[in-house]
Amino acid sequence: MGWWADRKKKKEEEKAAKPVASEKKAAPVKAVDSGASECVADKEPVGLAAADLGPLLPGAPPNGKVNLAIYWAAGCGGCDVSILDTNERILTIGDMANIVMWPIAVDGKEKDIAAMEDGSITVSMINGAVRNSENEHMVKLLRKKSLIVVSYGTCACFGGTPALANLVPGGKNEILDYVYTETPSSAAFQKKYSNVKPTIPQTSTTVPEGELTLPSLYDTVYSLDQVIDVDYYIPGCPPMQESISHLLKAVADFAYNGVALPPKGTMVGVTSKTLCEECPRKKEYKRIVEVKEPYQVDTNNDQCLVDQGILCLGSATMGGCGAKCTRVGQPCRGCYGPSPDVQEIGSSAFTAIASLFPVIDEDPLMGEDKVDEIMSQIKDPLGYFYAFSMSKSLIRRSVKEGGQ
Ligand code: SF4
Ligand code: SF4
Ligand code: SF4
Repeated sequence: MGWWADRKKKKEEEKAAKPVASEKKAAPVKAVDSGASECVADKEPVGLAAADLGPLLPGAPPNGKVNLAIYWAAGCGGCDVSILDTNERILTIGDMANIVMWPIAVDGKEKDIAAMEDGSITVSMINGAVRNSENEHMVKLLRKKSLIVVSYGTCACFGGTPALANLVPGGKNEILDYVYTETPSSAAFQKKYSNVKPTIPQTSTTVPEGELTLPSLYDTVYSLDQVIDVDYYIPGCPPMQESISHLLKAVADFAYNGVALPPKGTMVGVTSKTLCEECPRKKEYKRIVEVKEPYQVDTNNDQCLVDQGILCLGSATMGGCGAKCTRVGQPCRGCYGPSPDVQEIGSSAFTAIASLFPVIDEDPLMGEDKVDEIMSQIKDPLGYFYAFSMSKSLIRRSVKEGGQ
């Protein structure tokens, strides 16, 4: 039995077993693709509009509240906070769902989740990448307990900024060594307090009271779907409230009216266009003779930023945000991930930009030396072009010579 059929059967069994919580009758389940068009808006020219959620929902759904878990793996916390962007809609979430886990806001413990029946959490929204043993344990546990898992935010979808750690060839040991012995504050601490050898966090330490343990850090940071099966993706660093509204509407339609959820694999809050197609700036495809940071340019508000020498990844990035950054003079760094036709966001964006470098064989001032000069102006090219997507890139991580 397939994924959707399993869930439908379970829902029907629950419906038969539970008393109806209100007078409202659930509508018949519609075709599986009925919700998808509300989540992928490819006709919007300037990004995705928020879903029309109507008035606040009246009380609990007819078949009782759904169970919702929100978990924070390797991330900055911004994704958790973005859920509050729903403003008064947060009350709707409370009406619709029991929040069984949300470490930043609810006192749900791992053991409480472990004690739940498999499949008894309706939706788990997981933000952050997977970079240590605790992250892996928790996301696998939530997968087991959940009908639907949402990869929420850029770190979960593509590795995000935590996956820049994959560019450290020596992996976790090199990172721990640098952070705990070489950064100015830690070097001063070690000099003062660690006479014999530097103090570096260990996964297990024995103290008079017993054994203390810490999760073990991984050499490679993974996106969520590299560790568990994922049903939906919501990119964005963090996701915008327009995207959250589409997820909320899909879950509310399911819980209150029995409308089928969007098909597995749906990316919520994106368009099928590239960011360049949403950006109001005009492209002239000028030759790039110098690479500049935004603060070095008094930017023209109508002109494409690449035409002004600023590196922008809009040509390879999936649309949906409405060009949030470029509208205010900042280049797109690709937080929505690669557009549908692009496999490798960094190299694709770089190729588009490099095609504007002035290589003119017969002009000695426009030859390879000039290209080298322009290239040398790009600080940290890998970090720049893969700022959000290293886990999902073909490069995946740096290694030391000899394959270590
Ligand atoms: S996607 Fe952005 S906001 Fe969300 S956890 Fe990662 S860095 Fe933070
Ligand atoms: S490259 Fe950037 S600034 Fe230029 S049109 Fe595309 S998104 Fe806009
Ligand atoms: S412009 Fe680019 S970096 Fe900025 S929010 Fe949109 S996709 Fe993300």
